[in-house]
Amino acid sequence: MNSTYDPQNIFAKILRQEIPAIKVYEDEQTLAFMDIMPQANGHTLVIPKAEAVTLLDLSAEQAAYTIQIVQKVARAIEIALDAQGIVLMQLSGEAAGQTVPHVHFHLIPSSIHEMRQHAAQAGDPEEIKQTALKIKAALERV
Ligand code: AMP
Repeated sequence: MNSTYDPQNIFAKILRQEIPAIKVYEDEQTLAFMDIMPQANGHTLVIPKAEAVTLLDLSAEQAAYTIQIVQKVARAIEIALDAQGIVLMQLSGEAAGQTVPHVHFHLIPSSIHEMRQHAAQAGDPEEIKQTALKIKAALERV
């Protein structure tokens, strides 16, 4: 697995605020934002700010902290969207289908049997923004 970090990857640019993202949560170590090609309404990405390509490039501490935030955002998605189930997906390595080389966790309020195709079709930006507002509001309660 290639673990050489490319600082020009799109999530690094989002972290440096060089390109916009619809953010729902941020702290010193992590950022959560909406996926622009959602596999279901509410598809959210959680990333550590550490420069890591795959799950295996994170320290145990970084991984543990990021998972805590994944759980927090999942709780907010459950509340905000009345999600009956959430798919947690993490692709490590191009061979697994990873397209953005900065480690990230997908939270997809859907069923594995009903999800849209991976990174295939842009969502409606307005709809994504409205969903993000609901998740942000729910984050105040978790
Ligand atoms: P992966 O294939 O696991 O690396 O997933 C990358 C995800 O990032 C896909 O679900 C894409 O839809 C999503 N994505 C790509 N570019 C952006 C962007 N600029 N903002 C938000 N999500 C993005």
